Amino acid sequence: MEKMELKFEQLVLGPLSTNCYILFGPNDFSIVIDPADRAADILAVTEKEASPLVAVVLTHGHFDHIGALSGLTVPVYVHSADRPFLGMEWNQHSECRDLEEGEIILAGLRLEIINTPGHTSGSVCVRVGNHLFSGDTLFKHGVGRTDLPGGSMIQMQESLQKLMRLPLETIVHPGHGPATTIEEEKQENMFL
Ligand SMILES: [Zn+2]
Ligand SMILES: [Zn+2]
Repeated sequence: MEKMELKFEQLVLGPLSTNCYILFGPNDFSIVIDPADRAADILAVTEKEASPLVAVVLTHGHFDHIGALSGLTVPVYVHSADRPFLGMEWNQHSECRDLEEGEIILAGLRLEIINTPGHTSGSVCVRVGNHLFSGDTLFKHGVGRTDLPGGSMIQMQESLQKLMRLPLETIVHPGHGPATTIEEEKQENMFL
């Protein structure tokens, strides 16, 4: 995949300090990855940038990643295996669309969806150019829990191996905590 300048903003939201990423496309539209909480804060960012929100993309369905769903009225993309998590947070006025492995274009941005089950069975990572939004699959010097419903240690190991085949310079933006790179995780992450 080609390198590109990606413009995005990061908010840390909700009781578990979840990273929420707002990505700005070339056509002055935006998408949000993991609208963790406080829809008004998310919409304030898209308004400030004059880039209306056109889609929500979920790395997985855990409550700490979807807290603002009910306040956003745009299509929600989630892997079908994690759709049941949406439950009470679901907004009847939004549309739910399946995230499948492969490429999807939203807000003029080319997203590569990588299926990475293990933390949940419908966990995905989202690659945009040399950036990877890794949800709760890969953290700086850590990996996601596999002991929650839908989790699998075997699947997690396979998913992590898949991520380790990405270019070393890929910048990783996890669902919690600071950013890292594939190269740093190969060297420093004792879970890999
Ligand atoms: Zn999670
Ligand atoms: Zn989380």
